[in-house]
Amino acid sequence: MRIARFSIDGNVAFGAVEGEGSDPAGLVLDIIKGIPYAGFELSGTKVPLSKVRLLPPVIGNKILGLGRNYADHAKELGNAVPEVPVVFLKPTTALIGSGDAIEYPAFSHEVHYEAELAVVIGRMCREVPRERVKDVIFGYTCANDVTARDAQRAENQWARAKGFDTSCPLGPWVETDLDPSDLILQCTVNGEQRQLGRTSDMIRSVEDMIVHITEAMTLLPGDVILTGTPAGVGPLSVGDEVAVTIEGIGTLTNKVIKRG
Ligand code: MG
Repeated sequence: MRIARFSIDGNVAFGAVEGEGSDPAGLVLDIIKGIPYAGFELSGTKVPLSKVRLLPPVIGNKILGLGRNYADHAKELGNAVPEVPVVFLKPTTALIGSGDAIEYPAFSHEVHYEAELAVVIGRMCREVPRERVKDVIFGYTCANDVTARDAQRAENQWARAKGFDTSCPLGPWVETDLDPSDLILQCTVNGEQRQLGRTSDMIRSVEDMIVHITEAMTLLPGDVILTGTPAGVGPLSVGDEVAVTIEGIGTLTNKVIKRG
């Protein structure tokens, strides 16, 4: 099932996406009562998807990312594949939904796109054993781990480089029934393909990541894990439209504007 979060006429809700394909024109949202992580009830009240503004499809506490999880991407930036996974945090203030604008910040002159599969956590968990990982996952969505590459090079910690406002587009919705092990993911800029990869090329699997992260910290419902990007990262400019598409999920689209 596809679960979106949206606003309409000043009200915010989650909704189950009904209809075929991912063209908003043919899709309808059945409004969910409350927050869907621990199971949910549909209200039966429906709104056309074309009438709403999509929001990031989570209410969470934190976003974690994995650095250098595709060998070809580590290589293109001149980095070795790390022996221990590199884990970083993005603040929830970085989240935007599909259709929202990425605001190019003044402190950077080299903002890059990074197409990534995102895992959404469905229940509070810590020290998750490998065989229980599937029980803590709510679903999967598309992410763009937007990165100020110049700041990432200049600063040891990536809080500014990967944490600036609007640096975490997420959406368009969460797909709850999906095997993440071999999905095609791609990124286009102004319709031109820039990244094309498969999740089967990830060095650490989704299971590996959740075991590794929850050795250290509690994950809460709505928390997000970004699983790394394949080769082909590159710059964005003001005016660009960047789209991340993942097989079985849909397309996350964002325009780049100058921060006002
Ligand atoms: Mg990344």
